[in-house]
Amino acid sequence: MKKHSITHYLNLKKNPKKTPLRCMAFALAAVLMISTLVLPVPASAKSLDTISVGLYFVNNALESANLQNVTGYGSGYELGLYDLDENGDYKQFVALAQTDVVDISMLIDRTQYFSGSGYTTSASSGLMVGAYHLELVYSYDSYQQARDTAMLYDDGFVAYSYGKYFVRFGSYATYADAQAESGLYADCTVTGESEYGITVVQTSTGRILFELDEGAGTNLGVKPLGSGETRTWFKGKQYNGSFRYDRPEGEAMHVANLLPLEQYVAAVLCREFGFSWPEEAMKAGACCIRTFAMTGDKHRTFDVCNSTCCQVYEGVHDGSQWEYILQLCEATAGECIYYDNQPILAVFHSSNGGATSSSADTWTMDYPYLQGVYDPFESLVSTGAKNWSATYSLSELTELAQTWGFQCSAITEVYVSEYSEQGNVNAVTFVDANETSHTFTGEDTTMFRSSAYNGSRRYVIIPPWGSAEVSDVKIGEEGTPGSDSNAQGSSEAGEFLVYDGVSTTAHTTISVLTASGPVTVSGEAQILRAETAQSSPGAETSTYPSVVLTTRTITNDTGDYMVYGSGWGHNVGLSAYGAYAMAQQGYSYTEILQYYYQGASIR
Ligand SMILES: [Zn+2]
Repeated sequence: MKKHSITHYLNLKKNPKKTPLRCMAFALAAVLMISTLVLPVPASAKSLDTISVGLYFVNNALESANLQNVTGYGSGYELGLYDLDENGDYKQFVALAQTDVVDISMLIDRTQYFSGSGYTTSASSGLMVGAYHLELVYSYDSYQQARDTAMLYDDGFVAYSYGKYFVRFGSYATYADAQAESGLYADCTVTGESEYGITVVQTSTGRILFELDEGAGTNLGVKPLGSGETRTWFKGKQYNGSFRYDRPEGEAMHVANLLPLEQYVAAVLCREFGFSWPEEAMKAGACCIRTFAMTGDKHRTFDVCNSTCCQVYEGVHDGSQWEYILQLCEATAGECIYYDNQPILAVFHSSNGGATSSSADTWTMDYPYLQGVYDPFESLVSTGAKNWSATYSLSELTELAQTWGFQCSAITEVYVSEYSEQGNVNAVTFVDANETSHTFTGEDTTMFRSSAYNGSRRYVIIPPWGSAEVSDVKIGEEGTPGSDSNAQGSSEAGEFLVYDGVSTTAHTTISVLTASGPVTVSGEAQILRAETAQSSPGAETSTYPSVVLTTRTITNDTGDYMVYGSGWGHNVGLSAYGAYAMAQQGYSYTEILQYYYQGASIR
């Protein structure tokens, strides 16, 4: 059978009548846990020229962490600590020492061994860096003085502790080993492992370069040396800026990357939006990322982390487009999104499939600028969110409900129990064999997945052999809503455009291939309504197009429960693919932002 993909997006009807769903059957589904892009947090502004991004911390804190200058982007490092800046953050770098070694490892101050890929306290053989040293009884006021003395010893190095420099030498695994050697030297004592100390070594040789120990609260700062942009390898990724190492619990190190805000925005933009997107969409994305960074307050010792908990950050994009993306970010440098003079919660998602959802329906917090709006733009982008479908047997639905926390017996029925005004799912109810029902609401309703897409909030659940109405959301022209008003993506009412990889043809009935067989979709489209142009309060000149909904019926002849939807994400705030489409239509980044964050201003 020839495989077709549909070029427009099939969405559910506004407030469809709930039909009781009889349970019967069967099918597939891989259940993935949702990674939440963001949780709503109270927004407050902070000044942020330099951002600190947590890379490894708490559960994945490290006993050792290595760095290597990227060839051509720096050579050696300044070593020091981060002091409080004028905002009360540990971002003020204070240089204490320097090295021209390009490969260094930071070790918690315990005896460690090089395992081939890195240092570890658990190994007992290999290149050894001992935690015990001999220390001269004198202290020094400057690094240079201490350094000159340290060079008189074969493996001498400088340590900084409680505001003074010291000279240490030797590297022993135990106190006894160090003590046995100490008799050979004048004026020295044994110094040992430390709860908060951090040792810097040359990775390849284990030679100690520097030690820092200021007791509780110690942090080590490492700033690459270089005349221009610096880049540094860390665990297979390249980073701009500097690094900070803390041992807040006295054990493994927390690692943060400190870099100029706009470089961070550019790096996240490459990851979240794709660097070849239209400029105005990228600028809109940059404003979202920057605003989110300005308001992030989930973490104590850094501004944001590098995961979906905050925003995914994987260091500098190592491609030819990097300079261009950086320039795009700098074109909006410092600009954030505000509502009532407060920076907004600038959440975004990949694709909403036809309409956004309000924050109130998603996370219970009601923000005036995070309301549900129809999205007629996404359907204009062929690379945007497409339709997805997934089929579930009753046993798979049972497993799904249990995975998501429902203590239930065998599931006998599932249905959408509440839709939003724009037709997104607000609640899904599962009924089990004891006739107990359990309802998932808000972001949890993204629980259904197809193999190709993560779920969204825009779908219908069709019982075995049942049918449901879905709606397309399209751009219409005022006065002539619907039908063929848009040459770029829509079709005559009741028709489906099918792209077979070569050409696009119109059909009144199509088959959709699902994992358990074909599903018939028959064209019974009708124009529901045209909305008047939505204009943005903040921009008098902007006029957004009217929105047209067309409906049609999907018949589920698979014998399984079928979930038929569109979009990818939690549906709140800006749609990345919607921004892409709006930019292609000639909208500016401020118009894009004001469509998805209604009533907001950008400055
Ligand atoms: Zn985080």
